[in-house]
Amino acid sequence: MRIEAKFLPSSRARCHTGTEERDSFWKMPNRRFADGEVVMGRWPGSVLYYEVQVTSYDDVSHLYTVKYKDGTELALKESDIRSQSTFKHRKSQSSSSSPSRRSSSRSRSRSPGRPAKGRRRSSSQSREHKDDKKKTISETSLAPLALKPSENNTRRYNGEPDSTERNDTSFVISEQKLKPDLEIARVLEQYSLRPRKEEKKKEEMYSEKKIFETKKVIEKASLKTIEKAPSKTKELEFGGRIGTFTLIFFLPATVLYLLLMCKQDDPSLMNFPPPLPALESLWEARVFGVFLLWFFLQALFYLLPIGKVVEGLPLSNGRKLQYRINGFYAFVLTAAALGTLLYFQFELHYLYDHFLQFAVSAAAFSMALSIYLYIRSLKAPEEELAPGGNSGYFVYDFFTGHELNPRIGSFDLKYFCELRPGLIGWVVINLAMLLAEMKIHNQSMPSLAMILVNSFQLLYVVDALWNEEAVLTTMDITHDGFGFMLAFGDLVWVPFVYSLQAFYLVGHPTAISWPVAAAITILNSIGYYIFRSANSQKNSFRRNPADPKLAYLKSIPTATGKGLLVTGWWGFVRHPNYLGDIIMALAWSLPCGFNHILPYFYVIYFICLLVHREARDEHHCKQKYGLAWERYCQRVPYRIFPYIY
Ligand code: NDP
Repeated sequence: MRIEAKFLPSSRARCHTGTEERDSFWKMPNRRFADGEVVMGRWPGSVLYYEVQVTSYDDVSHLYTVKYKDGTELALKESDIRSQSTFKHRKSQSSSSSPSRRSSSRSRSRSPGRPAKGRRRSSSQSREHKDDKKKTISETSLAPLALKPSENNTRRYNGEPDSTERNDTSFVISEQKLKPDLEIARVLEQYSLRPRKEEKKKEEMYSEKKIFETKKVIEKASLKTIEKAPSKTKELEFGGRIGTFTLIFFLPATVLYLLLMCKQDDPSLMNFPPPLPALESLWEARVFGVFLLWFFLQALFYLLPIGKVVEGLPLSNGRKLQYRINGFYAFVLTAAALGTLLYFQFELHYLYDHFLQFAVSAAAFSMALSIYLYIRSLKAPEEELAPGGNSGYFVYDFFTGHELNPRIGSFDLKYFCELRPGLIGWVVINLAMLLAEMKIHNQSMPSLAMILVNSFQLLYVVDALWNEEAVLTTMDITHDGFGFMLAFGDLVWVPFVYSLQAFYLVGHPTAISWPVAAAITILNSIGYYIFRSANSQKNSFRRNPADPKLAYLKSIPTATGKGLLVTGWWGFVRHPNYLGDIIMALAWSLPCGFNHILPYFYVIYFICLLVHREARDEHHCKQKYGLAWERYCQRVPYRIFPYIY
C-alpha cells in the first residue's frame, strides 16, 4: 500500500480552482517536465498538490511517473502536474479571492450532480493508456482513499487555523455526506483510473468485497486515522542497525548496573564499577518458576470473560481488532491474591532478597519471548507487519518488533504485556520493598518517604489500568511492533527500574518532614492533574469530537478528517501529558533526598525518553497531517515545557 500520503500538502493547492485544468494535454506533442524536475503533483481524488519529482515519462501513454517525498510512485497525467513557479504565480493571483469564493468554486466544479471534467477525458485516455492506468488502479485500490481529502472535506479545509478554527466539529466527514461508494466511483472515474471499456476487468479489480472494505474504511475515517499502511521501514530510528544492536546489550546491562549500585551502601557514581556478583548467583530456577507463575497468573486474569470488549483503531486493511478491557479487574484480583498470601504469613520480601535474580529471570524470559515473536513474525502476512519494524534488517526488526499485533487466537501478546505483568508487577515490587524496609529496620510503620513513593506510583498504575482503553491509541499499540524493545521494556525495565526509588529507600532510609512531604504531594498532584486532564481531553475529543462537554475547546481541521485541539491543554504545549508525567517523575524521586543521584535516574531517563518520543510522534504527525500540523506548531510553539522547549 504504497500510496498512503506522507508528504506535505501545499498551501498553493488551495488556490487551484480546477477550471485551469482544461489545458492542452491532448494537443501537447512533447513532454513539459523533464526527468528529475521537482514539480507539484495532484493527489488523485483531491485538489491538493504535493511536491513530487519526475522520474520518467512514457511517450506512448503520455503519463509521468512521479515520486512523492515518502518514495510513493504514481503515474500522473500532465494536466495533474504543475511547475512550482506557475504555482507560486497562481497562488498570488488567487490570494485575492476570498476563501468562500474559492471553496464555492471547488464546490460547484465538484458537485456530484455535474459530470466531472476528468470524466470527459477518461474514455479516450483509457484507450491510450491501459497499461499504465492498470498499474495505477492496482496501486490506488490498495490505498485508503478515505484518508485523502475527499471532495467534501477538502472543500472545508483550507489549512488555515485562523480562518477555519472552530469549536464544533462540522468539518469532520459525516458518513452520509461522504457517500463512500459514490465517492470511490467518482475518484476512479474522474482520474481515469478505470478503463471504461473493460467492464469485466473492472469488476474483477473492484469486486463488491473490495468496494465494501474500502467503504468501511471511509466510514471510519470520520473519527479515526488509519495507521500508515505497512511498507518497508525506510527511516531507521534508535541509531539504526548499530544503535539497536547496541541497545540489546546496553539495556540489560543498565538494569544490572542500577540494581547493583542500589545495593551498595554508598551508591555514588564514583564507586564505579560496583562489585559484580558471581554469575551462578544471578540465576535460581525457583525464582524463574515464581516469575513464570506470575506471568501466567496474569495471563489467566486477562483471559477471564469479565470487562467490556472494545475495538482498537483500524488497521491498514481497515480491520479492527478486539480487546478485552479488564486490567483493573486483574489488579483487584491480584490485590486479593496478595492479601490472602500476606494473611497466611507469606514473606513477600522474598522478592527483595532475590531481586537481582528476578530481574535476570524477567530479562531471560523477555529475550526468549522476543526470539519467539521474531520467528513467528516471519510467517506473518505483509499487512500485519509493523510500520516501524519492517526494515528488512534482522537486528533492527528484532529490536523494534516486526509484527504489529502478534496474537495467539484472541490473546494479544503486546497488549497483554503492555499493562499487566510489568505494570502490576511494579507496584507489587514496591509493596515488597515497603515490607522489606519495615522488616530490615524493625519499623512498625513504613517511612514517610516510602509511603509517598508507594502511594504516588500506585496512583499512576491504577490510573493506567482504570483508563486501559486509552492504551489502544498509543504509539506502542498502533505503530510499534512487538519485539525486544517492548518485551524488555514492559517486563523488565518498567518493574525493575521504575521501582528503583523504593529499592533505594530500603537500603538508604531517608527522613523527610511533614511540610516537605506535603510540598512533594502537591507537586505530584499538579503533575497528575495535568497528565490526567490532558490525556482525558484528547481521548474524549478523539472518541467523540462533537461531545458537548468539549464545546469550549477549539480545534483546527486536518485533511484526514480528524481535528487538532488548539486550546485547552493541547493549546498550552504540544505534549501537556508528557509535562505532567515528568512533574510526577520528579515528585517520585524527591522523597529519596539529595544524597545521591541514583534515585533521580528515573526522572533523567524519563525526560530523555519523552523528548525522544515526542520527536518520533512529531514526525508521525507531520506525515499524517502535513500543513495542518505545521500550523498547529506555529500556533503552539512549545513541545513539552512552556517557554523552554
Ligand atoms: P500521546 O497520548 O501523547 O498521543 C500523541 C498523539 O495525540 C498524536 O500522535 C496525535 O495522534 C494526537 N495529538 C497530538 N496533538 C494533538 C492535538 N493537538 N489534538 C488532538 N490530538 C492530538 O501519546 P503517547 O503514547 O506517547 O503517550 C500516552 C501517555 O503515556 C502519555 O501520558 C505519556 O506521558 C505516557 N507514557 C508513559 C511512559 C512511561 O514509561 N511511564 C512511556 C510513554 C508514554 P492522533 O492525531 O492520531 O490521535
